[in-house]
Amino acid sequence: MDKRFVYADNAATTKISEDVLNAMMPWLKDGYGNPSSIYAKGREAAAAVGKAREQVAAAIGADAREVFFTSGGSEADNWAIKGTVISLKKKGKNHVVSSKFEHHAALHTLKKESLDLSLCEVNENGVVRTEDIAALIREDTALVTVMYANNEIGTIQPIAEIGAVCRKKGVLFHTDAVQAMGNVPIDVVRQNIDMMALSGHKLHAPKGVGALYIKKGMKLPNLIDGGAQEHGHRAGTENVAGIVGFGKAMEIAAKNIGERAAKVGAMRDKLIAGLLELPRTRLNGDAKLRLPGNVNISFEGIEGESLLLMLDMNGIAASSGSACTSGSLDPSHVLLSIGLPHEVAHGSLRLSINEETTDEDIEYMLKTITAAVLKLRNMSPLWESIVSGDDKKTAKARQNLV
Ligand SMILES: *Cc1c(COP(=O)(O)O)cnc(C)c1O
Repeated sequence: MDKRFVYADNAATTKISEDVLNAMMPWLKDGYGNPSSIYAKGREAAAAVGKAREQVAAAIGADAREVFFTSGGSEADNWAIKGTVISLKKKGKNHVVSSKFEHHAALHTLKKESLDLSLCEVNENGVVRTEDIAALIREDTALVTVMYANNEIGTIQPIAEIGAVCRKKGVLFHTDAVQAMGNVPIDVVRQNIDMMALSGHKLHAPKGVGALYIKKGMKLPNLIDGGAQEHGHRAGTENVAGIVGFGKAMEIAAKNIGERAAKVGAMRDKLIAGLLELPRTRLNGDAKLRLPGNVNISFEGIEGESLLLMLDMNGIAASSGSACTSGSLDPSHVLLSIGLPHEVAHGSLRLSINEETTDEDIEYMLKTITAAVLKLRNMSPLWESIVSGDDKKTAKARQNLV
C-alpha cells in the first residue's frame, strides 16, 4: 500500500469542515462590525451571534439564554469550577467531588483552588460509578464535576445518573462534554446538568471558541470582567466568525449521531481487533462504553514516544496519552487512574478517528503500526526481558508438569 497521510488525532483537534468554513467566511470579510455597535453592520454581527447561540442551545436541549460563549473548553471548565467555588464558599460549602481522570482544564483548576477535594476512583475499565460519586457527597459539598467522555481512553460516564443523584442531594453538577458532543445525544434538562463545557475545535469548528451552558436561575460569578457582552457575564468583543462557525458545527454535530457512531464505531472495532492480535497488547478503557472514534492501546515493551515518531515518518498523526502529557516523562494520569503500571502506560497509543477516516486508512494504520511495534520490540531491551521472563515461566511450568 502506498504511503499516505492519515490524521488519527481528532481528540486533540479536528479539521474545520467546509460547511463551517463557508458559514464563517462572511464574518471574516465584510461582516467585521462590532456586535455592540448600534449601526447596521454591528446589528448584523449581533444577529449572527444570536443565531449561533440558538444553534448551540438547540443542540443540547437548552434555552439560548443559558448559553455563554467562551474562548474554548478550558475557559468553560475554569468558569464553572472557579465560579461555583467562589459563590458557595460564602455559604460555607467548600467541598468538591470530581474524578481522578478529568481533563487538566478541570483537574489543575480544582487542585489550585483552596478547597476540600474528593477525587473519585475510576474502575479498571475507565468508568466512574454513580454510587461511588454519591458516597462522596457531603453536607458541605458545593459541586460535583465529572467529564462526560474521557479524552484519552474515550470512556463514556453515566452522566444522567450522576446528574440525578446531584439533583436529589441539592448539589450543583458540572460536566465537561467537550469530547462527548456529537458522539452521544446530549440533553441538559433530561440529564440533570447544571453546567456544561463545550469546545469548537473538537467538532470541526475553529480553535479558540467554545461555550459554557449555565442552567437558568443559577448565579455564577464572572471569570472575565469588563464590557457587557454575553449578557454581562463574559466580557470581551465577541469572536463573531468563530462563534458562527461553532454554532454551525454544533448544529451538524447534533444530527445523525447514531448513524455516524455506527460507521465510525465499526472502523474503530476493526482497528482494535487488528492491533490486539499483537501479543502483550491491551485495550485501555471499556470496549463498549466508548466514544466511536477512540482507540487506546498499550504495547508492552515499547516507548509510546518512539512509536509516535515512527508513525509520523510513515504519515500517521497520532498521540500517546493526551497531547498535553506528551513531551513530559510523567505517564498519563488517566492511564494510571485505571491501574496501568508506569511502564505499560508509557507504551500507549491513542488513535482518534472520525467520519472522514476511510477503510483504506484503517488498513494502512494496521499494517504500519504492526510493523512499527515489531521493529521497536526487536530493538528493545525491555521487550527482551519481558519475553525472557515468559520463557522462564514456561520453563518453570514445564518443570512443574514433570
Ligand atoms: C480539548 C479538551 C478541553 C480543552 O478545550 P480547549 O477548547 O482546547 O480549551 C477540555 N476538556 C476536554 C475533555 C478536552 O478534550
